Amino acid sequence: MSRLKARSTFVPYITMRKGEEPAPVTMLSASPARGLYYADEGPGDRDDRGVLWARCSQNRDGNAVLGEPRWKDVHPARQRECMEALLCQGCVQQPSKTDLGYLFIATRPADATSTDWIEGYRTAQPPLCLVHAKTAVDRCGHLLKRGAVALRSRVPRLYGVLGTYYLDRGLQPPEPIETDPEEEDVPLPYKTRRYTPWILASQLVRELRGVTVVNLEEEIARA
Ligand SMILES: [Zn+2]
Repeated sequence: MSRLKARSTFVPYITMRKGEEPAPVTMLSASPARGLYYADEGPGDRDDRGVLWARCSQNRDGNAVLGEPRWKDVHPARQRECMEALLCQGCVQQPSKTDLGYLFIATRPADATSTDWIEGYRTAQPPLCLVHAKTAVDRCGHLLKRGAVALRSRVPRLYGVLGTYYLDRGLQPPEPIETDPEEEDVPLPYKTRRYTPWILASQLVRELRGVTVVNLEEEIARA
């Protein structure tokens, strides 16, 4: 009973909580030479490729993240932490890893007619341990509806970021560009250097290589 209860109240580490707020746009500056920047920029504000990241407050008490979950939203810093270091998005511990690689849950693209999409699948969902992969599939309605697929990737390559593009407006504060809803989930590859100075990143994306489809239920039963 207690185990069931614990599962029903489990909130993944990367899930945004009520009360966590993005930093105001006025904190952001821009110049044609530098692109976007914060006037008081610190070492954690950019990733290793030099892309600027969205700032967002955190409701934390040490390691514990507090507050009501906002299920649809992901906290940029916590998503980045899990994706950069390949940690479980549920518990920030080591994800499940076998000879076939790290465990990820993917959702089959709506237009998929074969399994060609699996190799090279791009995801902003960090890997999972077995326990939290099971929780994710059991709990997320959209995963089930769209057909969740458990994958293992030997080489989950850093690919790029999702985020908001900004316009350089000279001496005025930079302004976010409205993106087409269809374009929202299209990550900007790190190699597209022309645009990387103008995106404020909010999620890190990996491209899964060396992919094998696995049976999650069987793996859990064996574990
Ligand atoms: Zn976990």
